[in-house]
Amino acid sequence: MRVLMIAPPGAGKGTQGALIAGHFDIPHIATGELLRDHVARRTALGQDIQKYLDRGELVPDQVVLDMVREGVVAAKAAGGGFVLDGIPRNMQQARALYLIGRELEMTADVVLHLLADDGELMRRLLARAALEHRSDDTTDIIAQRLALYHEVTSPIVSWYRDRGILVSVDAMRSADEVGREILTALEAMRPLLDHVPAHARLSIDLTSLGDAFGATDSTAGKTD
Ligand code: AMP
Repeated sequence: MRVLMIAPPGAGKGTQGALIAGHFDIPHIATGELLRDHVARRTALGQDIQKYLDRGELVPDQVVLDMVREGVVAAKAAGGGFVLDGIPRNMQQARALYLIGRELEMTADVVLHLLADDGELMRRLLARAALEHRSDDTTDIIAQRLALYHEVTSPIVSWYRDRGILVSVDAMRSADEVGREILTALEAMRPLLDHVPAHARLSIDLTSLGDAFGATDSTAGKTD
């Protein structure tokens, strides 16, 4: 199972990425974590990266793509599955990632798209800020990251929808409820992945199935 996660900051891609990785016993490659690790270790690259993180801007594509390529090569050696969380963030990264996937015979089977509205995301990130003290979890920088998501990341979603590998999930619920729905969907798809090529599949929109998975009535207004 090879999964890409596309979600605005605060929608839960770290939490759900870890859940999927544990469930399918595959590596979880999270670009934000890899970047923050460089900063924490004070590598030369880390000092450069920190400026982008602190401003809520995207780190240059090639820096992230090099890290991810390394992770995908290791994932291939470890059995062939992965959960990639945090990439692609723009169309250039989406194309580059696809080429890496083609070259390594590791293209994604599923793109998981988590949807939630900006007000809820801001609330969650400010709550996280109180616990984790991330330099980019301040009101201004969160607003900048959300704007960037809508401007350059969200447009990629339709590319994956057209390729037939998109699964959209309503993330305006508890992590447990969202996680249950994601694992149910991925388990249902698993037997198909080796037999039905992506171009012959249809993208799946689960966002209206909230009731079956414990939605509240707060799902109105969620956005890409
Ligand atoms: P995240 O942990 O995914 O919220 O990412 C935190 C920060 O890391 C982002 O605001 C960006 O500055 C940087 N980042 C993470 N992934 C990428 C990426 N694929 N391309 C560029 N910058 C990234």
